[in-house]
Amino acid sequence: KLHNQVEDAKGNIRVFCRCRPLSRAESSTGCSTVVDFDAASNGELGILNSGSIKKTFRFDRVFTPNDNQVDVFAQALPLVTSVLDGYNVCIFAYGQTGTGKTFTMEGTEGNRGVNYQTLVELFKIAKERNDSFTYDISVSVLEVYNEQIRDLLTTPSSSSKKLEIKQAAEGLHSIPGLVEEKVENIQEVWNVLLAGSSARAVGSNNVNEHNSRSHCMLCIIVKAKNLLNGECTKSKLWLVDLAGSERLAKTDAQGERLKEAQNINRSLSALGDVVSSLANKSSHIPYRNSKLTHLLQDSLGGESKTLMFVQISPSEHDLSETLSSLNFATRVR
Ligand code: ADP
Ligand code: MG
Repeated sequence: KLHNQVEDAKGNIRVFCRCRPLSRAESSTGCSTVVDFDAASNGELGILNSGSIKKTFRFDRVFTPNDNQVDVFAQALPLVTSVLDGYNVCIFAYGQTGTGKTFTMEGTEGNRGVNYQTLVELFKIAKERNDSFTYDISVSVLEVYNEQIRDLLTTPSSSSKKLEIKQAAEGLHSIPGLVEEKVENIQEVWNVLLAGSSARAVGSNNVNEHNSRSHCMLCIIVKAKNLLNGECTKSKLWLVDLAGSERLAKTDAQGERLKEAQNINRSLSALGDVVSSLANKSSHIPYRNSKLTHLLQDSLGGESKTLMFVQISPSEHDLSETLSSLNFATRVR
C-alpha cells in the first residue's frame, strides 16, 4: 500500500537507463568504460572522466550490463499490465545506434525482449481473469520513416499506401486502413512480429541502416469486456524502437541522408518536447510537431503511463553521444 503511494507520487512518467556490455571488439582493443555503476541500485549513474566521476545522473532505475532481459522486464511489468485495466501505455527505447534499443524491445530468439514478454504476460493475465472479463487482443506493426507512416502488416507490403491519423475528439485516435491483426495466442503473435520485421526490410538496400533511421512501432490494442456489469473498454499499448539519436557526421550532411537526419531530429526533439511539457504539467502539449508524437498522442499524457528506456554504450569512444542521451533523458524527467 505504502509502496503504491510512493509510486503514484512519481507521476506517470518513468525513465530507466540501460547500459549494454562492451562488445567483444571493444574489449579486445582495450577500450575503457566511462560508466560507473556503484550507486546503480539507487538509480544513479556516474560518468567518468580519467578515472574520477565527472557527472552523476539519476533515473527511476539503472540497469547495468549484468542485468538480463528478465530483470529488465520485471520492472516494466506493472506498467504493461495496466493496459488490461484500461490504461493507455507507451514504452519507448531512445539512444544512439548500437546501444541496445532493439535488444531491449525486440530482443533475440534466445533472449526475448519487452515486446514478446509483454504479450506473453497479457495472455497469461487475460486467462487468469477469464471468469470475469473477456479480452480481445490485436496488434498493428508500423514504421515511421521520413515523416511517413508505413503499415508493416499489409500484404504485399510494397503496395502499402500512405497512412494518415484520424483525430478523435475524445478517446482514441484511429489510423484508417491500418491492419489490426487479432491474436489469440503467443505463437500467432510471434508470426505477426516476424512478418512485421521482414516487411521492414522490403525496398531498402541496407536493412540495418534503414532500421536505425526509422521508428519501429508495435501497437497492442486491448478490448476488455467486464462480464459482471457489461462495461467495455479499449486501450492501447505502444512499444517503440526509436530511430538512432546520433548526430550526423558533417561529411554525410547532404541529399537524402541529410533529409533523413533532419526528420529523425525533428521527431526525437518533438518527443522530448512532449514528454518534458507533460512532466512540467505545461498547459500546451505540442503533439502535432511530428508524426511520431501525433501517433502517440492518446497514449502520452492524461491518464496514460509512459516509460522511456535510455540506452547507452559504456565505451569511451561513445562518450559524447552518451552524454547527449543522458541529457535528453534528464530533460524529460
Ligand atoms: P540498437 O538497436 O540501439 O542499434 P542493438 O539492439 O542492435 O542496438 O544492439 C547492438 C548489439 O549489442 C547487438 O548485437 C545486441 O545483441 C548487443 N546488445 C545490446 N544490448 C545488450 C545487452 N544488454 N546484453 C547483451 N548484448 C547486448
Ligand atoms: Mg536497432
